[in-house]
Amino acid sequence: MADAYWLDTAPAFVGDAGEVAARPDVAIVGGGLTGLSAALALARRGASVSLLEQGRVAGEASGRNGGQCNNGTLQNYAALAAKVGIDRARYYYLTYNSAVDTVERLVVEEGIDCDFRRTGKLKLAAKPSHYDGLAAAWESLRKDVDPDVRLLSAQEVREEIDSDAFHGGLIQPLSAQLHVGRFAVGLAEAARRQGAAIHEQAPVTDLERQASGRWRVTTPKGTLEASQVLVATGGSGPGPFAWFRRRVIPVGSFIVVTEPLGKERALSLIPANRACVTSMNVGHYFRLTPDWRLLFGGRARFTVSTPRSDQESGGVLQAAMVAVFPQLADVAIKYCWGGSVDMSADRLPRAGEREPGLFYAMGYSGHGVQMATHMGQVMGEVLNGDSSNNPWNLPWRPVPGHFGKPWFLPAVGAWYGMLDRLS
Ligand SMILES: Cc1cc2nc3c(=O)[nH]c(=O)nc-3n(C[C@H](O)[C@H](O)[C@H](O)COP(=O)(O)OP(=O)(O)OC[C@H]3O[C@@H](n4cnc5c(N)ncnc54)[C@H](O)[C@@H]3O)c2cc1C
Repeated sequence: MADAYWLDTAPAFVGDAGEVAARPDVAIVGGGLTGLSAALALARRGASVSLLEQGRVAGEASGRNGGQCNNGTLQNYAALAAKVGIDRARYYYLTYNSAVDTVERLVVEEGIDCDFRRTGKLKLAAKPSHYDGLAAAWESLRKDVDPDVRLLSAQEVREEIDSDAFHGGLIQPLSAQLHVGRFAVGLAEAARRQGAAIHEQAPVTDLERQASGRWRVTTPKGTLEASQVLVATGGSGPGPFAWFRRRVIPVGSFIVVTEPLGKERALSLIPANRACVTSMNVGHYFRLTPDWRLLFGGRARFTVSTPRSDQESGGVLQAAMVAVFPQLADVAIKYCWGGSVDMSADRLPRAGEREPGLFYAMGYSGHGVQMATHMGQVMGEVLNGDSSNNPWNLPWRPVPGHFGKPWFLPAVGAWYGMLDRLS
């Protein structure tokens, strides 16, 4: 079975050949959406940029996700407001609106052909009791921060989805979706047009601050000395980044994609072509692809993504897909893959300067398509001395007992599974 649909159906990108440049202004570690967007922003400002990617551009989470580009915080807005205060919760929520705008702006400015659509997000009540939660979310959102959000009854939601599995819904109309593989390659090409060097198969194996203040960055393709380094390694990757690995929890999430269904059959499932998520803690997300397949994902198992766990999750997800859409029982699965979601303990991203000249942005916790792209642009400003648009320079403690391998995931999964059963 084929690997990630987005990578399989994106245009090929060929990284720069040869040795890495000797003394760029900025070295970026990681060629996901954070790194690519930052490379574009910095190169546009005239900086010389070398991006170093251990594998292929967008080969990890940025090319292996659900392709949803949603507004709104990952956390329940009211709970977030209770924790951090209304002003800050509103600021965070509006930053996600700006992040979707950033993706749209880059698509237009750089002419990236990636099927970006403002179709809205549909959150689906997976149990009758979850409808009350959606209604409470609707009240607080429309009062405080998102006046156009819509609440749907169990009857109304049947017009949005051809399934008996749901008991109401919430629509956030500012949300979008896109072909993330084509978007990432488009960003890489745009950064290169502005002069950034993009090296694939260039893992960073050592990082050392020199007496001069420059950072020496070592890869098998050569060593460079940069004035500034941006660590954009997401939830994956080896190398001299143990400080970050203790703070980011790589949680596996898995996806299957069907054979093409044809436009009519595909739209019969989700007539407004929205990006859908369910209300469970261990829930599902799904949408149609540009060539009219159904993409269906979820945290089928609480584990890291490996070839074996990806395959095992594929079976679990296909069964879940058929439970939602029994009319797809005869449909073949053509793609099955997994990836690491870069979770922080409080599910808020983190970005800032760790040591003089050493910057980072990561921890998007499942809302990274828009926020990673946005933070790449913001980090372009931060490296230029302007941190005014960075909401995520927050205290960041290591996860207790976490040294890189998340041994505690099965217990966390069992806990959330129990909460879902009791809800
Ligand atoms: C299955 C799945 C579904 C998801 N669904 C969605 C969704 O629908 N919507 C949404 O908003 N978000 C979603 N996410 C999250 C989103 O994809 C990520 O938050 C986002 O892509 C992070 O981008 P990034 O550039 O920071 O990290 P990444 O895309 O992980 O990129 C980091 C890069 O750094 C490289 N790297 C690591 N170490 C080194 C090193 N030592 N040297 C050189 N390179 C290195 C890696 O190879 C990788 O390419 C999903 C994630 C997964 C895994």
